[in-house]
Amino acid sequence: MEDRGFDLESRLESLQSQDLKRTLSPVDRVAERGYFAAPSGGELPVLEGSEALVFASNNYLGLTADERIEEAVTQAAATVGTGAGASRLVTGDTLVHRDLERQLAETKDTERALVFSSGYAANVGTIAALEPDVIFSDEHNHASIIDGCRLAAADTVVYDHCDLASLRIALEEQATRGGEDESWLIVTDSIFSMDGTVAPLTGIADLADEYGAWVMVDEAHATGLYADGGGVVQAEGLADRIDVQLGTLSKALASQGGYIAGNEALIEYLVNEARSFVFSTGLTPPAAAAASEALHVARHDDVRERLWDNVAHLRDGLEAMGFAITGDSQILPVRVGNRQDALMLADGLRERNVVAPAIRPPTVPEGTSRIRVTPTAAHSRDDIVTCLEAFQAAGEEVGLL
Ligand code: PMP
Repeated sequence: MEDRGFDLESRLESLQSQDLKRTLSPVDRVAERGYFAAPSGGELPVLEGSEALVFASNNYLGLTADERIEEAVTQAAATVGTGAGASRLVTGDTLVHRDLERQLAETKDTERALVFSSGYAANVGTIAALEPDVIFSDEHNHASIIDGCRLAAADTVVYDHCDLASLRIALEEQATRGGEDESWLIVTDSIFSMDGTVAPLTGIADLADEYGAWVMVDEAHATGLYADGGGVVQAEGLADRIDVQLGTLSKALASQGGYIAGNEALIEYLVNEARSFVFSTGLTPPAAAAASEALHVARHDDVRERLWDNVAHLRDGLEAMGFAITGDSQILPVRVGNRQDALMLADGLRERNVVAPAIRPPTVPEGTSRIRVTPTAAHSRDDIVTCLEAFQAAGEEVGLL
């Protein structure tokens, strides 16, 4: 009999031999210690009996253990319930959702906003619902954008990362083919999570105008961090030139869920046609309440200043040591090069109680392995100093400095 099964053991062995195999922490340890769910600053989280500082989470504003947010969550659970109980279009719609959407629309300078059960669901549901004929997509766009493009079954043209000349060539090539009756969508992350780069949104909006295309921007890593709690779109004053603003509630907003912000017609259309909205249970009310409160804090508290202050100190310190940091955002990718060095550096950091794992292929291209460092607003100045000292010592140990 022929074997058409899957030899998973050999595949795992092959990953192991290339240093590519990942292992999750044992379940009991995660449950006991709350390893990655704990806030980034302070004494938590704890692993194997030693205190560790997490410098790798997306909890940018340090709000996942904020008392104001905990209270909003408790109140929502007590008054509205722990679950939406049904799709928003059936009986799952609550005032908590509406309040969050009103605040998001206000922050994003749009007519309306709509929340989804995740940023992933918002991306795939929205891109597929739009049914574009051609999509122009940055080569480093997030997986949920790529999956949205696949689901939309559109012709997808990938342009070079943050490269306006490459985007222009792609648009021009399609224009010479004709396609006057088609719908075109340019889609990009605003901050790229592995590179820390910021998309040239003004240039993209200019090209979109020139070719009559729509622009969709994924602000997952930027939401809450810029002007009045907005993203890069707000920082650059582009709200009226970006057709679709997308984001997640799961990073700076310390919750779970995703959103789309745009004009009335877009949101109405998505309420009807985005299958990941229509056929999915509404966001849990406590998650909506947490994001609402976090957005309020992001807009009115000093957490953004604290984050950017920490980012500046950490970036300056790492660069002064001689590490190369790419990008221009709160994400500080420390370029190492080969994957073994990146793994050894991460181990060295971990031995010094700093958690910042190595990012290696296939997440990033071969030869560009790195440590992705993300300070948060919850880190104290002492935490930043601890992190820098760990980089210095571990970097010397690995022979990188
Ligand atoms: N877009 C980007 C750029 C992301 O980094 C992520 C999450 N890693 C998502 C979308 C998906 O968001 P969520 O985690 O809410 O599904």
